[in-house]
Amino acid sequence: MPDADSLYRQQIAALYERSAFYREKLRAAGFADPAAVGGLAEIGRLPFTEKDELRASQAAHPPLGAHAAIDISQAARIYSTSGTSGAPLYIPLTRADVEQWREIGRKSYSRNGLAAGERVVTTYGAGPFVAGASLAAFEAIGCVHIPVGAGNTERLLSAIRKLAPEALACTPSYALHIAEVAASKGVSLSAVKRIIVGGEPGGGEEGFRRRLESAWRARVYEIMGIGDVAASLWGECAEQAGMHFSAEGVIHVELIDPETGKALEIRDGATGELVYTHLAREAAPLVRFRSRDHVRVWTSPCACGRSSLRVRCIGRTDDMLIVRGVNVFPSAVREIVARFQPRVTGAILIRPRRKGVKQDPPLPVLIEGDATLGEAIAGEIRATLLFTPEVRMVAAQSLPRSDYKVKLLDYSEAT
Ligand SMILES: [Zn+2]
Repeated sequence: MPDADSLYRQQIAALYERSAFYREKLRAAGFADPAAVGGLAEIGRLPFTEKDELRASQAAHPPLGAHAAIDISQAARIYSTSGTSGAPLYIPLTRADVEQWREIGRKSYSRNGLAAGERVVTTYGAGPFVAGASLAAFEAIGCVHIPVGAGNTERLLSAIRKLAPEALACTPSYALHIAEVAASKGVSLSAVKRIIVGGEPGGGEEGFRRRLESAWRARVYEIMGIGDVAASLWGECAEQAGMHFSAEGVIHVELIDPETGKALEIRDGATGELVYTHLAREAAPLVRFRSRDHVRVWTSPCACGRSSLRVRCIGRTDDMLIVRGVNVFPSAVREIVARFQPRVTGAILIRPRRKGVKQDPPLPVLIEGDATLGEAIAGEIRATLLFTPEVRMVAAQSLPRSDYKVKLLDYSEAT
């Protein structure tokens, strides 16, 4: 296998040849040809790629956009994003791309010890979204895969009761919801030893994880991918010390300051936004793609013996609020609230008063649980996250639940 730098140079040359979007974008930034771009060591000079640019490119040059480096007839599969802001964005893969994703997924899902012959029940749909690509990972590992799809908790509980799977893969909020339903119906979940969660932050929040682990009496392992780049890019090992990178040599990772765009040194404890560059993608390679995922990184070797880069997700840069100059991630608020379990359920909802990122204190936070806890939780949030919340305690099970990604921000009362 060629080294990362040679792959990168080939990838850039292919983009100049086949992607009108990147040819124009890189030329406009002063790089006349691939030689001017140089190698991986100089990647920080190149402009970022934003998701909005991909949307605009696809709208102006349907069906795949000017950034794609193939004709649609060469695609083997075309996923689409959930399209929260309008039309879905199509993500094409060639046969080789599909194979590459499968191998990345196999690594990520097997990091925690999931092995051939183990039964794993999954709730991801094989629908339009990239999450469906993860399903191939279970076959690649050799698991007995039991797909039950999203939105059918009864079917899931039946599968757990009758087929006794050792593992469950779903979103963290759904895993908690299933545990609550199982408890209310007296269904035993004891067969499940591993819960592999992904698709949203939560699996990495300590309090939330403890709650999940005690509700299921199972170990929780986190997985993280990003549709435009690859499904299941990161997977946690049995040491539960962050998620290991699984695409070394085929995807290049950078860490940046999301405010300034400045590259940050990747060292133990550093935090910032992940930026990805494909080194060996055929259909729609991306250069310096801004993920909007805010993470903490570790480079020191893990106790499991692997030396690959590890991360924990702190939150989405997109979900971040700024309360009088302080960055607030909704998932971080949920993490503080979880410290008060079992007197809270762990469910929260932040209801900003104003539209947009900037908010004035106190920030309204709805929390399910014991009504007498309001002041104590507000104090803990103030002391840890350095902003003033307006805590409103609400009854257990009164906030929305989800069988996919739970919403922690609700702008319906914002003016
Ligand atoms: Zn490890």
